[in-house]
Amino acid sequence: MLTTDCAKIYVDLVGIICQLTWYIKNRKEFEEYLVNNERHVQTIARKSRQAKKAYEEVSLYYTKVLWACENNDFSVLRTKFRYLDFSESNHLSAREESIKINYEKFISETPRCTVCGGFIDGDQKVKKAHNCCKQILS
Ligand SMILES: [Zn+2]
Repeated sequence: MLTTDCAKIYVDLVGIICQLTWYIKNRKEFEEYLVNNERHVQTIARKSRQAKKAYEEVSLYYTKVLWACENNDFSVLRTKFRYLDFSESNHLSAREESIKINYEKFISETPRCTVCGGFIDGDQKVKKAHNCCKQILS
């Protein structure tokens, strides 16, 4: 019985490490997609109304975005989330334009992980890597 439990735990751990590796590999593109489509999660949460349903739908959205990054095929998002706006809005009010410029400036100045290229906290001048990136990919 103990051997079966250990084997199951091992298989679960390997699965988690594989998923983490998959995430780290695509993290930069994944995060950039979320930044460029920052209203999607808000729209999904608002549409779902209940917290549990919103959590499940946002989780599914993240999984599909990650899959799309891995496969360079974002059509799956348009198919699954038909109610989301995938068009680039060129008609912004002065206030929206100002918010957009400040947001883009903030994002461009946010430090990046030296391993995966994803966003990382801290001083822009100091080169840093996520702990998971250091442990899994090195
Ligand atoms: Zn990283």
